[in-house]
Amino acid sequence: MSDRDGFIWYDGKLVPWREATTHVLTHSLHYGLSVFEGVRAYKTDKGTAIFRLKDHTDRLFNSAHIYMMKIPFDKATINEAHKEVIRANGLETGYIRPIAFYGSEKMGISTKGSTVHVAIAAWPWGAYLGADGMEKGIRIKTASFARHHVNVTMPRAKLAAAYANSILANQEATNDGYDEALLLDTEGFVAEGSGENVFIVKNGVIIEPEIAAALTGITRSTIHTLAKELGYEVQTKRLTRDDIYIADEAFFTGTAAEVTPIRELDNRQIGEGRRGPITAQLQARYFDLVNGRLPGHDDWLVHV
Ligand code: PMP
Repeated sequence: MSDRDGFIWYDGKLVPWREATTHVLTHSLHYGLSVFEGVRAYKTDKGTAIFRLKDHTDRLFNSAHIYMMKIPFDKATINEAHKEVIRANGLETGYIRPIAFYGSEKMGISTKGSTVHVAIAAWPWGAYLGADGMEKGIRIKTASFARHHVNVTMPRAKLAAAYANSILANQEATNDGYDEALLLDTEGFVAEGSGENVFIVKNGVIIEPEIAAALTGITRSTIHTLAKELGYEVQTKRLTRDDIYIADEAFFTGTAAEVTPIRELDNRQIGEGRRGPITAQLQARYFDLVNGRLPGHDDWLVHV
């Protein structure tokens, strides 16, 4: 990925992709304290638009705040930089990755004396869990690793270090032939996927697990809004893994994963074992929304 054309916004300037490097003694590389976002831009008939940019930037700054990291730019500058990166790389659609990390001034756990750097890159990225999965649904497996306890890495922060836990779960599932992992919290209740929030549909009601140990997903909130607009009841409650076994439908949400149907958990078929009708409806509506075909949410589309 380091060997490609294009530009990355790095500490206030657009630099050629291959030159956007950092030293091997970068503090965040050794201790894992960096905060980041995953954002998508879509093609609309009024040009390319970044979806819910303000919410992503707010979450990035909240993540930094939780970890007492001071981002040396204001939100307006970061938002503008996202647009610059899309334009500079000539992207019509793409995934955007802003990251704030500590530099290489010093080693040792303390961050005192380290400077904070910000990079924003963008590239084309298709269906995160595969185009086939978007249509047929994916097979997932409950991870033997629990999601971090709320008092360990703090789930409101999108913190790089927390993804070591995601990687363990995802490795376990994919090595065993599944598409993705489902993580439970330390009490055994459903938390989320390795990089997605989860929903189920039961008797026409859309149910999301409480997000205690999960990231506060922006796609989750979008789907919540779309479901209510379509007249569905949306409930938030503690869910167990067997609630998913006996659900009529299940799906993952995430900026990268968008709306991905789940057809099987732990070798138990969910519902009809394919993308369910309500999932299909929400998925179609989500794509209408992000591609600017759904009136009423113009504030969520930031044109570049
Ligand atoms: N949970 C985790 C662990 C994630 O990495 C993501 C992706 N950012 C999500 C949930 C979904 O969040 P969002 O919809 O904001 O992308």
